[in-house]
Amino acid sequence: MCVFCKIINSEIPSSKVYEDDDVLAILDISQQTKGHTLVIPKKHVENIFEMDEETMKKVYNVVLKVTNQLKNKLYFENVNLLNNNGPLAGQSVNHYHVHIIPQYSNEQLQFGFKDKEPDFDKLSETLNQIMSK
Ligand code: ZN
Repeated sequence: MCVFCKIINSEIPSSKVYEDDDVLAILDISQQTKGHTLVIPKKHVENIFEMDEETMKKVYNVVLKVTNQLKNKLYFENVNLLNNNGPLAGQSVNHYHVHIIPQYSNEQLQFGFKDKEPDFDKLSETLNQIMSK
C-alpha cells in the first residue's frame, strides 16, 4: 500500500485541513512555504494518465475550496498549484496529488523543492491557525 493510502487509512498520522468521502487535504510535512497543502483523492489513482473525470472534478473542487480557506487564514495573495506526473516530472509518491503552495511577499518563488526536515511543532501551529474559527 502506498504512503498516501496509509495516510487515508489513518495508519500514518497527518495534519488534515479538509476531508470528505472522496478527497483528503493535508499539510505537506515538508512545508515549502507556510500552509503548503496536498489535495489527494481517496481512490488510489497513480497519476493524470490513470485519472477519471469524476475523481478529477472532486479533487479540483477541493483544491478551489481549500486554496481559499488557506488564503483567508494565512493571508497570502499568490499561490502555486503544482501537480507532478511521473518520475521525470518530479512525482515522488505514485498516488495523484495537487500541491497548493502559498507565495508570500517576503519569499522567493520556488519551483524546485528543497529537502526540509519536518518541523512537527510548526506544522501543528500552522494547522491550528488554518482550522481556527
Ligand atoms: Zn495510494
